[in-house]
Amino acid sequence: MSTHKSSSWCVAMKCNNKVTEKRHFFMFPKEYDRWMQWIRASKRFDLKVMGPEYAHRNYRLCHLHFEEKWYKIGKSRASLHPDAIPTIFFGTNDILVTTAPEEIVNDCQRLSTIVKDCQQEETNRYD
Ligand SMILES: [Zn+2]
Repeated sequence: MSTHKSSSWCVAMKCNNKVTEKRHFFMFPKEYDRWMQWIRASKRFDLKVMGPEYAHRNYRLCHLHFEEKWYKIGKSRASLHPDAIPTIFFGTNDILVTTAPEEIVNDCQRLSTIVKDCQQEETNRYD
């Protein structure tokens, strides 16, 4: 049996390793505001540089990150409410970028610095 990785891939930290049950995947929204909400919720600020179009084409979150009221799972496919925002994530506290406030992440991206520098800058500012 061959497994096609790209079709079953969730951007949520640790999700792919931990979850073995069958999952349904939802594309990132194209609309800027909603896309930002997904980025914020999933704490994947590193994906932000790519922009919403790219995210929509390439990134997915699985249904485990949404409250049940947001999605319906049909016979062949799942559908997500247009206003759905992911709220359920596990064990993301130890991820490098999660603690960096958004302004700092923005600054760092402008300067094309790496995430490590963001953290150092954060430490300096809030000490
Ligand atoms: Zn997931």
